[in-house]
Amino acid sequence: MSKKILIVEDNTKNRVLLRDVLQYHGYEVLEAADGEEGVRLAREHIPGLIFLDIQMPVMDGFSALKMLKATPETRSIRVIALTSFAMTGDREKILNAGFDHYLSKPINTRELPVVVKQYMEA
Ligand SMILES: [Mg+2]
Repeated sequence: MSKKILIVEDNTKNRVLLRDVLQYHGYEVLEAADGEEGVRLAREHIPGLIFLDIQMPVMDGFSALKMLKATPETRSIRVIALTSFAMTGDREKILNAGFDHYLSKPINTRELPVVVKQYMEA
């Protein structure tokens, strides 16, 4: 599987934090600031894992996930949602939409590599 991880997140601070932690752990990181760019990069690079923010300009995480799942080349890539929503109902909605996992922001930088390792090795 590809060692590349795609981060799709419009908040620069969150994106940089995620990138730094993932690069520190030896992953090659690709970055996009909105869903449309994220889908484009996913199709071009076929990363091993995608982090997808829910609330983004241009195209949100739900729409981007739909596009990824509608394309044969990107359909089987595992996608982890990034969200600042803390409510249980949103967690259900996110998992029902087809995300493989869900991380709440602010990102726990000690939990992150554990989760990534699990998905990149599975
Ligand atoms: Mg956002």
